[in-house]
Amino acid sequence: MKPAFTVHLLLGSNLGDRAALLAVARQQLVAAIGPAVATSALYETAAWGREDQPAYLNQALALATTLAPLALLAQCQAVEQAAGRERLERWGSRTLDVDILLYGEAQIDLPTLIVPHPRLAERRFALLPLAEIAAEIQVLGHRCTVAQLLTNCSDLLPVRRWSA
Ligand code: AMP
Repeated sequence: MKPAFTVHLLLGSNLGDRAALLAVARQQLVAAIGPAVATSALYETAAWGREDQPAYLNQALALATTLAPLALLAQCQAVEQAAGRERLERWGSRTLDVDILLYGEAQIDLPTLIVPHPRLAERRFALLPLAEIAAEIQVLGHRCTVAQLLTNCSDLLPVRRWSA
């Protein structure tokens, strides 16, 4: 039997019915990737990099999977496509964005996949939901935990817990 890894994903949406899009995406990700180990609350954040856009809802999700990293990335992108995502511009609005934050304890540096996610340390909207479900996990390349990265994060965009 293949070993299972815990992968941490960040889901984001800033178009349409954001909470409903994230709920459907969670179901599809579990079906395609593996069972959920932990799910954070929803958080709302102003659009990062492009502050003229609608605010995002973000959520961190931990899944157990036997998929190899590139197969995992392909499934994440298939779920983005199913949500009607179009890649029009960098940091443009999107119905659904799925980022791979952590893949077990692996460090991956491939042309199409870098893990831990290269911009994790500079994004409060990713660190806050991740810290809710994985505060004590060590982040390779940073020699510190998710909680410590959050404490040291200089991103000033406010991130608030959200409920419908
Ligand atoms: P984005 O437009 O922000 O969704 O970026 C997606 C692109 O980033 C894809 O072409 C991926 O191949 C690449 N990528 C590199 N590292 C990661 C990662 N850790 N998670 C998701 N996408 C990644």
